[in-house]
Amino acid sequence: MAMIIPRVNPECDADVALAIGRIYRRIRRRSKTSTKIRLIRMHLDPALKRFERLVPRSLRTYLSWHYHGSLAEYTSRCGFDQAYKGQRLFTRIYVKLQRSLPDSYEPLYITLESVLTFLDYCCFSSLKPRNLVDTAISANRRLDYCRFCGAPAEYKAFLDGDHSFKEEDPEDKLRLSNWYCSKHKPWLSEGNSNSLYRRALRSKASFDMDVFRLRMAIGEPLRDPWRDNEDLIEIFLRKYIQEHEIDLEDYASIREHARALTDQSMTDQKKIVCALLYLGKNQSQISEHLGITRQAVSKIKKSIHPSYIYINNA
Ligand SMILES: [Zn+2]
Repeated sequence: MAMIIPRVNPECDADVALAIGRIYRRIRRRSKTSTKIRLIRMHLDPALKRFERLVPRSLRTYLSWHYHGSLAEYTSRCGFDQAYKGQRLFTRIYVKLQRSLPDSYEPLYITLESVLTFLDYCCFSSLKPRNLVDTAISANRRLDYCRFCGAPAEYKAFLDGDHSFKEEDPEDKLRLSNWYCSKHKPWLSEGNSNSLYRRALRSKASFDMDVFRLRMAIGEPLRDPWRDNEDLIEIFLRKYIQEHEIDLEDYASIREHARALTDQSMTDQKKIVCALLYLGKNQSQISEHLGITRQAVSKIKKSIHPSYIYINNA
């Protein structure tokens, strides 16, 4: 049976298209993952590097491999399946945003699509399913961040020359953590379990979501039109990014802010309330939108830290 090789869209970035074409000619779907990754490193990574420089900085975050250094690095860390799913999600969100962008960003979409098709083609690697490692964890491992914040994990910090947490441990009993910073590690030096760790573990899902959303929330805070709650959350986050002057290239700082939002219990509902207040809606409009009583809205509003309530001066 002849294998059908996907065609690369002619409007895809020429270098990237050439590289993908080269790889298609050298692999079969069942080729070993390591072969595919080697070819990506050889042909596609240099083309994507060049392409990345043409993409406006603020949009580079839609390239799923951007924070991992290269596509070869990204796919070897989390596997083609996860890389495909990740890029598909990023592309979807980009498409949603694209409506508000000038036409000149069209090449990004087409190139993303070509990479996506390519990743999909690569997914079929072996007949027996492999257990993929948790993507979030493996990503952190490579980047050496604490799983719960933007600080480096202890071991990484130690390698980088920060020996402060060893000073309280002259007998060298303490094992340095590969996964957590000294604030968030499960066990404290006295052998007590760490309540900050337990708390962070409970809120891990919402922390990861906030990291992801902050990375995606690019641009001026939208006002109108918004369609759903996800849009409202994005309005809040864009305003938040603007207020805190967050550099979206600074992944550590994004993680710190996600931690802060999670620790302040900024649930989705609270973010929505903040966005609606920012959009100038009054309490009864908010209660109507959320389908709850005005008293409940007022209670939620009181529970929100005042620094998150942005006055709309428009
Ligand atoms: Zn931490």
